[in-house]
Amino acid sequence: MDYQKIIEAVYAEVKSWENKGQIAQYIPELSNVNPRQLGVHVSTLDGYDVGMGDHHTKFSIQSIAKVLSLTLAYRLRGNELWKRVGVEPSGTPFNSLVQLEHDQGIPRNPMINAGAIVICDILVSHFRNPKKELLAFVREVAQNPDIAFNESVAQSELSVGYRNTALINLMKAFGNIDNDIELVLDLYCYMCSLEMTCQELSRAFLFLANDGIDPITQHQVLSLTRSKRVNAIMQTCGFYDEAGEFSFRVGLPGKSGVGGGIVAVHPEHFSIAVWSPRLNKKGNSYRGMKFLEQFTTQTGLSVF
Ligand code: GLU
Repeated sequence: MDYQKIIEAVYAEVKSWENKGQIAQYIPELSNVNPRQLGVHVSTLDGYDVGMGDHHTKFSIQSIAKVLSLTLAYRLRGNELWKRVGVEPSGTPFNSLVQLEHDQGIPRNPMINAGAIVICDILVSHFRNPKKELLAFVREVAQNPDIAFNESVAQSELSVGYRNTALINLMKAFGNIDNDIELVLDLYCYMCSLEMTCQELSRAFLFLANDGIDPITQHQVLSLTRSKRVNAIMQTCGFYDEAGEFSFRVGLPGKSGVGGGIVAVHPEHFSIAVWSPRLNKKGNSYRGMKFLEQFTTQTGLSVF
């Protein structure tokens, strides 16, 4: 497969289309990003590593980080997690409060905000310094000590996190948050503020394309079973109320973030990260979705 040629062709095609959608405005710091940027990077299990455009530019990975915090918590607590968070697609926006009341404070899955906040609560219970441990874990899977939180993005989100505060309070009332609300929200907002490039992201997610084992270091990040389950959750829940559409058009497990990034993996083959800041109405990168749809169409590679 000539990934380079396909990426160049798809990149040119997507660039030639109108760049629709809006940059996320509700976190003030995110609205300052240049909306014209488009980056893509593919890392394959056999060592092929290629990117285009703004693939070396750091951006706010936002909800993509939920996969990494889930991986860390899953490694530490195993199946205990599923007593506190489900694995069903929500069919609702990322910050919806509606189901949570009906489901008695148990979030549908760890990819929506409520579920990721429960995962953060578990990490706060486990570690004395959860921010430091989470960052160390992300640096470990990415094999890159340069990855960091963006302090201004974290503070910006903390200052306007009204819906996340509502979600955590509701869960606390139902007995599904053990720690102090401020501590948990602090970890959640710092986690969302992580900055990475497309290249760093596709590298970091390679273990999910390789049965839980980092193909370069041979380090086991997750067991085979758990790695498959994280992929299953990405496939069914990674795009909020557009998860079905992503499966339908792209056909890969993946995760988006409101910073405009998307990561997808093809088990046994590759990991790919795309970034373009303008979001469609469901909060997923407009060009990122288009790029991945064209990419899997032209390569003929999907899990289906
Ligand atoms: N930090 C964002 C929030 O909690 C994450 C949302 C996302 O990327 O989908 O609102």
